[in-house]
Amino acid sequence: MLNERMVALGTQRSVIRELFEFGKQRAAEIGAENVYDFSIGNPSVPAPDAVNETALKLIQEMNPVILHGYTSAQGDAGVRKMIADSINTRFNSSVGADNLYITVGAAAGLCCCLNGLCNPGDNVIVFAPYFPEYQVFIEGAGASMNLIPADIEAFQIDFEAFESALNADTKAVIINSPNNPSGAVYSEETIQKLAAILEDKSAEYGHPIYLITDEPYREIVFDGTVIPYIPKYYKNTLVCYSWSKSLSLPGERMGYILVPDEVEEQAQVYAAIAGAGRSLGYVNAPSLFQRVCAMCADMTADISVYETNKNLLLHGLRDMGFHVVEPGGTFYMFPRTLEADDVAFCERAKEYNLLIVPGVGFGCPGHARISFCVQTEMLKRSLDAFEKLARSYRS
Ligand code: PLP
Repeated sequence: MLNERMVALGTQRSVIRELFEFGKQRAAEIGAENVYDFSIGNPSVPAPDAVNETALKLIQEMNPVILHGYTSAQGDAGVRKMIADSINTRFNSSVGADNLYITVGAAAGLCCCLNGLCNPGDNVIVFAPYFPEYQVFIEGAGASMNLIPADIEAFQIDFEAFESALNADTKAVIINSPNNPSGAVYSEETIQKLAAILEDKSAEYGHPIYLITDEPYREIVFDGTVIPYIPKYYKNTLVCYSWSKSLSLPGERMGYILVPDEVEEQAQVYAAIAGAGRSLGYVNAPSLFQRVCAMCADMTADISVYETNKNLLLHGLRDMGFHVVEPGGTFYMFPRTLEADDVAFCERAKEYNLLIVPGVGFGCPGHARISFCVQTEMLKRSLDAFEKLARSYRS
């Protein structure tokens, strides 16, 4: 008898993947230029040249036995030191190599944190709209997900709903700002309020409630928006970072977990995360790209195109009558759908060769996600298709 949960996870294709496959099929039928694929969050700009140059230099100059050998399970010590220095310069913090655990992307970082923290019966709070894999990761760690409905006016936090959801079994809260799929950035005020509630409730229940902050989009922000450095606001914070989006390296699978000294019983928490990494086989992230990312940690790809795309799409959609909360970052927009049934809306969008993702899978029906990490020229052409879709609801 197989593990039925795993069979189910391995069999069901995600809605996003289904759309992506549909897009390929449609492109073969009518030409790729006539399909407006906004389904997937794959960066559309290349990694900076320095990434390839650094990789080549390392391959040419470093001892191959070391370069291609195992590193420490938690990542090479020199690499962790370089990343710690970069964090300290940017956030005026004082983290060291031993506060970091290198992972294959934020996905593995989240899994290590959740498996390290959770016991059966624990629950983890998530705010809608949310990255759907959270549920898979949380349940994989033996805990259950407690979903807080979205504040659809601003995609901040509905604090009343949040406070009533907290209980003695709450082990952790996951936040993701800038957010996939809404693009919302939590304001400093939101973070302060969240931190105050978590302090109070941790004291009331007699155990820490950890704040896991999932930050793959930290650098992709618009109009000079600043993302608060969360450990400064709440001591029991674990940061899951990734270079997938900022350096346009999703296929290289590189990120880290930061466990700051301020975390209560930091050494124990770090050990639990390292233990989870060991038990899941998430040890020794790829050696070459550990080094490349550490050496390029202060760079980003040319992410300015996302702001250009955001402005074009936002104004275009609003002119057509869509209700959209302006994204503060990421490359996602999450307009309200023109009928309550977001799945039906996205099906109708397909008739205009627009591939967008229903909000229901993100815990927020009545909306659709548009991934605007696409060529600007394609986005401009797609506006006509969006207009036709909107018009079909007017008539
Ligand atoms: N968290 C969020 C909110 C994401 O959008 C993604 C990827 O799209 C991830 C985590 C996983 O990122 P990584 O490629 O670093 O595993």
